[in-house]
Parts: sequence; structure tokens; C-alpha cells
Amino acid sequence: MKIAYKKMLVTKDKKIALVAHDNKKRDLIEWAKFNKVLLAHHTVFATGTTGGLLENELGIRIHKLQSGPLGGDQQIGSKIVDGEIDFLIFFWDPLEPVPHDPDVKALLRMAVVWNIPMACNRASADFIISSPLMDETYDRLIPDYDSYRNRPIDE
Ligand code: PGA
Repeated sequence: MKIAYKKMLVTKDKKIALVAHDNKKRDLIEWAKFNKVLLAHHTVFATGTTGGLLENELGIRIHKLQSGPLGGDQQIGSKIVDGEIDFLIFFWDPLEPVPHDPDVKALLRMAVVWNIPMACNRASADFIISSPLMDETYDRLIPDYDSYRNRPIDE
């Protein structure tokens, strides 16, 4: 079956969400410091603790949401659904269990459902931030979910 897509325009100035688990926060701060100039003309959102640290260390304005375990990951997921986040940098920790593991999984899932570029480690984040597409508009293709919405349900 041929899959239909809808286009979502991603503007030149992008809305970026940054999240890091505790053992990865230092990594994310270093990455953001290194890329401070590139990040400057985008709008940056972050979960609470990550956002506070980034604001202190980089001196840039961050739209801070709740701390991740208190609902911040879900807030970012909700913004992705509403088309308010263009890409996600999420340094999650593969070696440490977290209390909000279901929220983490849900956030990663929403990024895939809505075809959001997502980097879960520093190398991927480097490739994304240095992409020529960062300074251009971009047509993000989203599967046309109408056939899913209109699926037959047995009554
Ligand atoms: P935090 O949340 O930035 O508030 O620590 C990150 C997370 O665990 O999702």
C-alpha cells in the first residue's frame, strides 16, 4: 500500500528541545557551549533542571518546562504533537534506571510518530547541528494518519 504524506514546514529559525539525564547533563552543557553561536538564533526549550543549568552556563534564554520526572518529558512530547518543536536533542542515560522511564519511552515514540529529527548522543547531535538544513526551511513529511483515524472499529 502506498503511504501518503502531509508536509509540515519547518522554518529557518527552529524550535529545539534539549533534555539530558543527570549523568549526561555535563555532556549536553559542553555540546551546547560549543554550539552556542549556532543555537543563538533558534528558540530553545528544555526540561527544568537541564534548562536551568544551560541558562546559567550559556547565558541564553531557555523556555524551561517541568523537570523530566515531574512531567517535563511529557510536555515536550505534547509540544511535538502540536507542531511546536522541530527537533529534539535528548541525551538519555543507557546505564541508569530512571523513575520516569515510561515518559522517556513515550517522548522517543512521539518524535518518531511525528518524524522529528532526534539525537540521543553527542555524535548525532553534532551531525544534526552542522547540517545545512539547520539554516534552511524544510518540508517535514508526516505520514497521513487519516487512514488510521478512519480505521474500521468493530462495534
Ligand atoms: P531534568 O529532566 O532536566 O529536569 O533533569 C530531564 C529528564 O530526566 O527527562
